[in-house]
Parts: sequence; structure tokens; C-alpha cells
Amino acid sequence: MALMTGAEYVESLRKLGTKVYLFGELVENWVDHPIIRPSINCVAVTYDLAHDPEHSDLMTVTSNLTGKKVNRFSHLHQSTEDLRNKVKMQRLLGQKTASCFQRCVGMDAFNAVYSTTFETDSKYGTSYHENFKKYLIYVQENDLTVDGAMTDPKGDRGLSPGKQKDADLFLRIVEKRPDGIVVRGAKAHQTGSINSHEHIIMPTMAMTEDDSSYAVSFACPSDAEGLFMIYGRQSCDTRKLEDQADIDVGNKQYGGQEALVVFDNVFIPNERVFLCEEWDFAGMMVERFAGYHRQSYGGCKVGVGDVLIGAAALIADYNGANKASHVKDKLIEMTHLNETLYCCGIACSAEGYPTKAGNYQIDLLLANVCKQNVTRFPYEIVRLAEDIAGGLMVTMPSAADFRSDEKVPTASGLTVGQWCGKFFQGVASVPTENRQRLLRFIENICLGASAVGYRTESMHGAGSPQAQRIMIARQGNIEGKKALAKAIAGIKD
Ligand code: SF4
Ligand code: FE
Repeated sequence: MALMTGAEYVESLRKLGTKVYLFGELVENWVDHPIIRPSINCVAVTYDLAHDPEHSDLMTVTSNLTGKKVNRFSHLHQSTEDLRNKVKMQRLLGQKTASCFQRCVGMDAFNAVYSTTFETDSKYGTSYHENFKKYLIYVQENDLTVDGAMTDPKGDRGLSPGKQKDADLFLRIVEKRPDGIVVRGAKAHQTGSINSHEHIIMPTMAMTEDDSSYAVSFACPSDAEGLFMIYGRQSCDTRKLEDQADIDVGNKQYGGQEALVVFDNVFIPNERVFLCEEWDFAGMMVERFAGYHRQSYGGCKVGVGDVLIGAAALIADYNGANKASHVKDKLIEMTHLNETLYCCGIACSAEGYPTKAGNYQIDLLLANVCKQNVTRFPYEIVRLAEDIAGGLMVTMPSAADFRSDEKVPTASGLTVGQWCGKFFQGVASVPTENRQRLLRFIENICLGASAVGYRTESMHGAGSPQAQRIMIARQGNIEGKKALAKAIAGIKD
């Protein structure tokens, strides 16, 4: 099958029987639901840009498995150039959507599972790598979107999986059959789960032998029997249901999406199993997936940052504040922070290396430094954007007020809409509605629905800050650095 267009992707979702609960009810037509649809539109851009002559070189690549052209989102990185192009593609998509476009979790899972299954098979004589290769060819040939799912609900953070009061708080194998396994549990905060055709499940952390039933990786369709999702709500999400949504949502077309994905005794056939109780490889899979996803943030968040910097500069124009030196300096600072994140994404890619399976892995230390910076810099960029925008971004009346014909019974006889237009204008040559739209857009990225993808996800997505600090401690080679100091200081032990 050829590469899908965005419209074909949307139609392909309609054929799935994915079960989605939102506000306590099963959603019949989740593809067209106004709260869910912006996140589908976002993934659709990853398909449309693959057909765009301006971007198809970046968006598509030759598969090492089939020799055919595939979307880069389903590719196994074959070089450091591929790794860098991945980051560039993510920056581009952040620029086009100002949102989380969700398809990266699958790409990062493919690359982590491919190399880990190779090494698991080398030790145990299993056939997970062959299983995975066949699966990925199926994904590439059908141009599917796959959710890479890692994070378990985790219950009491002080207890290991097997010690939890409720054994389902980490996803696990509950039955082994001759033809496959049965799994139970859930994956939380799953980006892009509802609009994915398939799911790849990975363990959430390194496991011990006692917890081997939790060391499991597999793939299944999003509408597998026993699988359902509960949609995660976002700040201001019900604005999408309003008539005036095109202004008040700020970014009506695109958005991210997270959900709780529940597996209530789901059967997985043997050919879709990629890890089954080989507990000593769970940590490798987690570390590699997390490394790729921490690299990813040096692309996607930078693209959204580009749009936010542009919006901040534009609102300074609309407010008549663009000549102020402190505004110019704030835009410089935002750009400096944003490009620093990009440097990290490119650097960990440029320093990548081939795994034993042949696909390329990023430099883990630099990828963790990248994500650690992402837990901080977008917050500062948001702070500066809010500084430049002014308080009106959170105090402005609704679009319904701006459009209201209701006459206010005072001396002037103006309508509510006319009063809004009069008092919320900035530079006289700029229509008040432009200012209104832009302030709502900045609100959307900094505090509204897209803040999930830009702000809080910068903190917790791809692992919370402490997870990177543990990796930085492991990879930082302090002993080697001590030796450097000793050598130059003339210290002999
Ligand atoms: Fe992709 Fe970024 Fe969203 Fe992760 S947070 S899925 S890397 S856009
Ligand atoms: Fe993420």
C-alpha cells in the first residue's frame, strides 16, 4: 500500500472499533468528536507532509527492511544523518501544528524494540527479533500509526510491581498459552493512543527476577478484545464545544491527546510478542526508548517554541511595544533557549552509534541532557511570552462578547461587541480580532489545551527530571573526570 494522505488516515481510523470513554460515556463517533478531532488532525499532518514536495525528502526514507519508500515515522534509523533528520522532521511538525503530533512514540518504540529483541534473542535463542521485523514490515506497508506505550500506573511508588496491593498496577502476563499470552493492566498518559491503529507495549522500568511476569513487550491492534481507553481531559477542553471555538480555543485545528489505556485480559498471539519474562532485558528496552524520546524533545518542543516566539513577537507588534529594548531582549533570550534545546537534539543524534542489530542509537548522555534542559527552558520561554503578551491573555472576555449585538443601556448606546472592540484594540491599524485571536493562541500554548504538549509534557513526558538525572549520573563518568584532574595536578596514587 502506498503512503496514506491525511484524509486517508482519518478514514482508516473509522474502520477501527476502538472503544473510547469521555466524560464517563462511550463515544460512538470519536473521529469527529470536537474534543478529540484536533489531535487526529495533528497526526494527519504527518501523512500530508510526506506528499508535500517541499518536505517529502525529510518526511520519507527508504526502508532497510523492504527497500521501499516509507514515512520516516516508521523507519529504523540507519545512520547519524537519519537521527538528525528525525529531529529536523519533529521541529518542522512542531512548527506546523504548535502541538504534540503524537506519532513519535511509535517510531521511538520501533527503534528500541528492534535492537533489544536482537540482543534478547542472542542470549536466549528466542525469536522476538523475527517477530518484530515481520510486524514492522506490516506497519510500514500499511503506513500505520502506532502508539508506543511504556508508563504503567505504578500505584505506590515505594513498592515494586509484585508487591503492590493491586497486582494490575503494572501491566503483566496473567496467562501463558501454547498460542500466546494473556495480559492485564494499563498504560497511563498515553500520547496519541486513541488515534493510533496499533499499540506497542513495553515494560515501564528495569525488572528483577521476582517481577519477571511484568517484563513483557508486544503489539496489538487498538481495538483488540478487552482493550479500551479513557480520555484525559485538558485545560479549557470544553471550549472546543462552543460555537465561538475558532477564536476562544486559540488553536482549533490541532492539539495533543493523552489517555489511560486499559488491558482487561487481552490475548496476544505469539507472533506479536517481543519480550516474555526475560526480565534482564526490560531495563535495556526502557533505557533505549527513553533515550530516543528524550532526543525527540530536542525537535518537537523546539518547533512549538518557534511558533510561540513568533506569537510573542507579533503581539508586541500589535500592542505597539515592539520597539522597547527589553521586549527585543526577551525575544533574543527565548530564541537562545530554544536553539539550545535544538543543539542538544542535534548533538545527541550526531554522536549516535550503531547497535548490535544495526539500527542507530543516540548518545544517551547527551539525550538525557537534552531532556533535562527541556524540563526547564520551555517554562522560561512561556514566562517570557506571558510577560510580553500582557495580562489580557487571561482576562479578555469571550468571543461571544466581542460578537454580541446586545445593546448596553447607557448614554452611548453601543453594543457589548462594540464596547469590546473599542477598549481591546491595540495599535489602531491592527483589527482587534487579530489581537484577540493571537492572545488566545498564546494562552492555548502556555496554559490551555496545548500546554499539555508544550509545558507540562516538557516536565514529565519521556520521563520526569529525576529519571534523566539518574541517567546523567550513570553516564557522566565522574571517575574518568577525577583521573583527568589527578593527571594534571600531578597526583599519583
Ligand atoms: Fe512527538 Fe513530542 Fe509529542 Fe513526544 S511530545 S509524541 S516527541 S510531538
Ligand atoms: Fe511525549
